[in-house]
Amino acid sequence: MKMSQYQAKEARNRQALNRLKTPKSISKLKKQLDKLFGEYIKNRDGWQCCWCHKPVKGQNAHPSHVIPKSISNHLRYDPQNVKCLCFHCHIQKWHLNPLEAEAWFKETFPERWEYLNKEKNILKSWKRWELEELIEYYKKEVEG
Ligand SMILES: [Zn+2]
Repeated sequence: MKMSQYQAKEARNRQALNRLKTPKSISKLKKQLDKLFGEYIKNRDGWQCCWCHKPVKGQNAHPSHVIPKSISNHLRYDPQNVKCLCFHCHIQKWHLNPLEAEAWFKETFPERWEYLNKEKNILKSWKRWELEELIEYYKKEVEG
């Protein structure tokens, strides 16, 4: 069944009203921010794999954390902690061979490695307003 223009407009109004009434859950905000932040990282790294230097696009472009989210929530949205990798380098090398991965990163980005190791033990829980602020920031960065 096709929606009439009137019904479509009503539905849009209802959605807008719902957005005002029920703020997005923290996990929804994180999901939105993950996506924007990932785009920011790929742009920053010039859509190129930091490891093998091949150009990447679409599903082959992976924003990849150095210190995993599960270890450091504090570094989750820190651009220093994320690099663009191709599918192969991310899955076959970074995750399957962590010792080689660490050695590569340490050698290629020594200052970043030092910084991340200093910061990784800081405890952090993301507040709604912080996520919203970062979303606004990365939206501007990504969408201009
Ligand atoms: Zn690669």
